[in-house]
Amino acid sequence: MNIRQYSPSPTVTIGLGVSVLALLFRSLPLPEFWITLANYVGLYSLVALGLVLLTGVTGMTSFGQAAFVGLGAYASAYLSTTWNVSPWIGLFAGLSLTVLAAYFLGWITLGLSGHFLPLCTIAWGISLFYLFGNLDYLGKFDGITGIPPINFLGLDLNLGRDNFVLIWLCVIWSSVALSHLLDSRSGRVLKALKGGVLMAESCGVATMRYKLLAFVLAAVLAALSGWLYAHLQRAVNPTAFNLTAGIGYLIMAVVGGVGYLGGAVVGAVLITLLNNWLQNILPTLLGQSGNYEVIVSGILLIALLQKSPKGVWHWIEHGVKPLSTIVFKKLYLERSKITLDAGLGVNSPRRQPNTNIKNISTRTKITPPNVVLKVIDVCKSFGGLRAVNGVSFQLKASQIVGLIGPNGAGKSTLFNLISGVLPLTSGSIEFLGNQVHKLPARERSKLGMGRSFQHVRLIGQMSVLDNVLLGAHLRARSSWLGAIFRTNQTEESALKEIGNSCLSIVGLDGVAEQNADSLSLGQQRLLEIARALALDPVLLLLDEPAAGLRHFEKKELQATLKRLSSEQGISILIVEHDMDFVMGLVDELLVMDFGNPIAQGNPAQVRENPLVIEAYLGGID
Ligand code: ADP
Ligand code: MG
Repeated sequence: MNIRQYSPSPTVTIGLGVSVLALLFRSLPLPEFWITLANYVGLYSLVALGLVLLTGVTGMTSFGQAAFVGLGAYASAYLSTTWNVSPWIGLFAGLSLTVLAAYFLGWITLGLSGHFLPLCTIAWGISLFYLFGNLDYLGKFDGITGIPPINFLGLDLNLGRDNFVLIWLCVIWSSVALSHLLDSRSGRVLKALKGGVLMAESCGVATMRYKLLAFVLAAVLAALSGWLYAHLQRAVNPTAFNLTAGIGYLIMAVVGGVGYLGGAVVGAVLITLLNNWLQNILPTLLGQSGNYEVIVSGILLIALLQKSPKGVWHWIEHGVKPLSTIVFKKLYLERSKITLDAGLGVNSPRRQPNTNIKNISTRTKITPPNVVLKVIDVCKSFGGLRAVNGVSFQLKASQIVGLIGPNGAGKSTLFNLISGVLPLTSGSIEFLGNQVHKLPARERSKLGMGRSFQHVRLIGQMSVLDNVLLGAHLRARSSWLGAIFRTNQTEESALKEIGNSCLSIVGLDGVAEQNADSLSLGQQRLLEIARALALDPVLLLLDEPAAGLRHFEKKELQATLKRLSSEQGISILIVEHDMDFVMGLVDELLVMDFGNPIAQGNPAQVRENPLVIEAYLGGID
């Protein structure tokens, strides 16, 4: 790790503060029972933190985390009782085993879509439970007893109090690590996995690797919890790691707020306290014992989620923050007659696109008349429908070509064939002299193909700048480990500079910190262009970029695109319905109708072409 690059984040400072509090808490004369509860809350929080990453951030639901808790617990329990090794070696073995198991399970199941993944997690959750229960050397369903305590900093952690410190240090520093991870190049990809896989792939990201990363990290946190549990309890048996426990962890994360790191801890606290309280109060109320708390907590859970479907943390964040803003406004701003809007940037002034484009490209320039893209006799069929039928054309360096045609002509399909989102039925595509039609979208992006989508694909809950930085993914190297240990800061600032230049090119630099979903549709289209620019493209594929823009915004976009081609040598292929916009922009036009190329030439030639008039006006003059 490069020490000079290290800068403690505010999260680290908070982490240090809370760690000190944890040490103080241990020394308070609290009843042992409280400490026990706090220990369990900590153990559950670790698993729920993994679920926040897995389910909340990347959108993959798992009911099977308890099985990974079991792997961590059993590995260390077995080694420390049978081979007398130190629990720390047990931890290393347990985590290694978990990484291997999660990697393997993730590799076979993460490609599955929809409800198949959650079903698979149930399947391996049950399988591992029965595996623990049936193996002789793991003590079958009786489990393993006589597990030694962990020795931490020379002290045997015999008491609950001593374990408390270690457990909560693990929770605190895992939260800090995850928060660093989410605020990084890898984190932006992780946040894009929920609903943005196609877009991320066209930014050059190998999304499967990041899915696996989230899956393995969540499993590692679960295994860490299992290891702590085994040496706290000094005994393990399979019941603690069954499917019910797996569902319980998911409920904690959901109740707390599966989209928030803080939600993991809040959920663990609430569910633990609730269960404990119900176990005490229900027998008194009902006059008999039984597992009634499960029923009552189920009802309370449904009621809570009705009130706050995004979890308690969401409610805290969105209830307390606005409240404090209102109080602040009442107490301070109204008195001094300042309006809040200006400061909050809600209606921040629109900016002109930056006409002084800074060259942020690091690629070797391709100069005219070199050919950038060659589309040769390309066809695409969807079943019996020929959506693209024998299209051929070339695009030279710095050239702007417009692709026009009535709705359903096959323009977007042709875009998807060129960018690699769809496979060809026949024909071939050459990009910068490489045969690319068999390469996946992300490999084509690496070569310098940037695109926008007809239906915008942004990560709405992420800032405008972060959305652009997804496009710049390939321009940085730092890994998830670099993110956790914050050795990525120099690179992150460089990336942000690139992102801000791209935003200023399209005139969005005034809204960089807003969430993408707060922008108007027109601005969202501009943001898609900025994201494509961040890739350092040789070729820009723009699918209806001007739809939703106002007249003067179209004029500005037209000027910006012209400058990109003339000053930065970027070639542009553009689909657009607004004929004034297209005619005033492009060097050449390609017209499609029912999948067929019907005309090609400069705007004046195409305008006169009888076939084009026929296609657009149905033969009426
Ligand atoms: P355009 O962008 O020119 O309006 P498209 O390329 O979106 O047209 O569509 C061309 C034709 O292909 C349409 O008839 C459309 O219904 C069909 N099509 C597009 N995508 C698919 C698909 N994934 N599956 C089946 N048919 C499709
Ligand atoms: Mg289209």
